[in-house]
Amino acid sequence: MISNFSQSPLVIGFSNLRRLRSERPLVITKGRGVFVIDENGRDYIEASSSFYCAALGYSDERLMHAAMRQMHELPIYPTGLHRTVDVALELADKITSLVPIEDAHVLFSSTGSEANDVAIKLMRYRNVARGEPRRRKVISRWGSYHGGTIATAALGGGRSVHDAFALPMDDYLFVSQPSWPAGRREQENAADFVGRLIEELEDTIVAAGPGSVAGFVAEPISFSCGFFPPPADYFPRVEEVLDRHGVLFVDDEVICGYGRTGALFAAESMSLNPDIITIAKGMTGAYFPVSATVVNGEVYDWLEEASDRDGSLAHAATYSGHPVGMAVALEVLRIFEEDRLLDRVRARTPLLHRRLLELSDHPLVADVRLFGFAGALQLTGARVKPGATQPPVGAGVTAMGEVGKALSRTMIDHGVLVRVTGDSAVIAPPLIITDAEIEELFVRLRRALADAIAELSAH
Ligand code: PLP
Repeated sequence: MISNFSQSPLVIGFSNLRRLRSERPLVITKGRGVFVIDENGRDYIEASSSFYCAALGYSDERLMHAAMRQMHELPIYPTGLHRTVDVALELADKITSLVPIEDAHVLFSSTGSEANDVAIKLMRYRNVARGEPRRRKVISRWGSYHGGTIATAALGGGRSVHDAFALPMDDYLFVSQPSWPAGRREQENAADFVGRLIEELEDTIVAAGPGSVAGFVAEPISFSCGFFPPPADYFPRVEEVLDRHGVLFVDDEVICGYGRTGALFAAESMSLNPDIITIAKGMTGAYFPVSATVVNGEVYDWLEEASDRDGSLAHAATYSGHPVGMAVALEVLRIFEEDRLLDRVRARTPLLHRRLLELSDHPLVADVRLFGFAGALQLTGARVKPGATQPPVGAGVTAMGEVGKALSRTMIDHGVLVRVTGDSAVIAPPLIITDAEIEELFVRLRRALADAIAELSAH
């Protein structure tokens, strides 16, 4: 039975709450493979995997059975107080054997926000233990998103979020996003662009004061910024600066991890050397809220030392190592192995890229960006005419232009859900999508773009 939505007390995030008074939101009631189905029986291809999390689609029986089996064995037991559960130990072994971090140790939480929050907390704990309590500032990049808790919202680089919630808090610093080529200045080539960003990072660390910066937090490719794969020398040069100043590199792989870039971790695809990696979404295909903060041996040794000094590590959470989540996460890794999922993703990537590139000529598309099993269409912002040039994206994310707004409406009519952020339409379908479904995705997307042209031309 469908209730009158105008009377629903439900608060929906990233939405205009007043619009919810007059307009019923899209209400999803079922999922099948890469499709979600609304309350009226209409299907949609989830081309951005629902906040980039449903890597294994919406109806994997193996994940459901893994959850049910664990529910029967042991439905809940927290990891804390020198107690844990067998499946948490098993998952910790598995993840630390796969992650490209030396002598890795892992702390489980429930959400990506929490994983990043814990990363900040553990860096501070390490630094206090090392006798450097002043080393607590964290650098992130304008336009980034690292979570919705107060600490991680402050860490994110959304200017509108900062304004709305009176952020950032103390100890947060920001540098430019490597949004190449959108963020470049006139006459800048890629090397100049990276050189300027590296100088900015160096200056920021120096201006913060010696020994005061704990970490640099970055997504390998920022999805919230519209998916601009950075120039190849960006991260190696960033790492050189961080190493020189004793700043830890926190690699937020909440979206990029678990196959999105063609390897299990983006750090592998992009040859990154982080000290800490945070993961979430894909870990369980989002069938259960599980996240993890993975730290290297150097960080861990200090945690161990300090916890011994203090009597315990003063951090735990009721749902840390939740047995059902652990069981589902183990099943996901089994599926990656048994289905040779990464091979399948890599085999399917050229088709996804080809179909995206074919949209380069579309009148509403200024540019196409690709990396791994994802890509973005740079929309022409407020313009509709063929030959429109790419709008400047600057250091962060621009407000959504008319084209993005129109596409956000017409994609619903044509049963395809992409993530429009600023003037970018980001496409990152579930990893299990078939070739035929990729074709269907682009049939629907082209229809949605055609309707967007019609809508914009009518005004
Ligand atoms: N980090 C990144 C890069 C994200 O995109 C997100 C969420 O979209 C988060 C962290 C926060 O994850 P969660 O929504 O699970 O708290």
